[in-house]
Amino acid sequence: MKGMIFDVKEMSLHDGPGIRTTVFFKGCPLRCLWCHNPEGLSRGVELSYNKARCRGCGCCQAGCLHPECAPFGKCMFVCPENCLQTVGREVEASVLARELLTGAELLGHTFGGFTFSGGEPLFQTEFLLALAKELRGYHLCVETSGFAAREDFLSAIEATDYVIMDIKLIDPTLHKAYTGRENGRILENYAILRESGKPYLIRTPLIPDMTDTEENLAAIKELIGDDPWEKLPYNSLAGAKYQMLGKTYQM
Ligand code: SF4
Ligand code: SF4
Repeated sequence: MKGMIFDVKEMSLHDGPGIRTTVFFKGCPLRCLWCHNPEGLSRGVELSYNKARCRGCGCCQAGCLHPECAPFGKCMFVCPENCLQTVGREVEASVLARELLTGAELLGHTFGGFTFSGGEPLFQTEFLLALAKELRGYHLCVETSGFAAREDFLSAIEATDYVIMDIKLIDPTLHKAYTGRENGRILENYAILRESGKPYLIRTPLIPDMTDTEENLAAIKELIGDDPWEKLPYNSLAGAKYQMLGKTYQM
């Protein structure tokens, strides 16, 4: 089973219990205005171009025979300034698992487990399940927006040991305005998670005047009661990444 990822981060301290290795799945059905992982939005391989470093030499335009360069009409391997890179890697679950396990073995008993993040890992549920199977025996965590079909959500929480789920906004109209989707499915999946008996953490990104309002935070508190709840400060440093991917940061 193949899937598309855009990064693997080792020694992560904020993606579940302990020191973890986090796999970033590529593709997300939401479009949160504040998203700080624009490379996780689209499911396909993308070209990242660092315009600030480009000296206009034209070497990348000369043509090449690398199959991975063909979709972009530029050679990624000749740039003297290393301005061009592909973002996204299609990989077999068993191959990725072997790579991940090699890193984990080096950490020995200090290793906390693996986390599936994104993008939205449930956008590739079959791949997530295949990877979870390969990594059986390790502590597995999934970080999700909760925007997923009920069956996918159920199978993902069943296959993992710990769930980190976003509740961003309670008002469905505001949710659609700021993330591109209404939140009915997310709230239904939250109810499933609550009943599941699986340990979990609710997260809310604090976006000024969007999620970080008195009304919204009070409404989330009313919904989740005494659930573990982490409020994440707004990360405003994503603008450059959008530019390199030819996307517009709307914040
Ligand atoms: S090879 Fe690199 S520096 Fe030269 S034009 Fe292409 S991107 Fe710019
Ligand atoms: S759910 Fe996460 S990855 Fe998807 S758009 Fe929102 S912030 Fe970005």
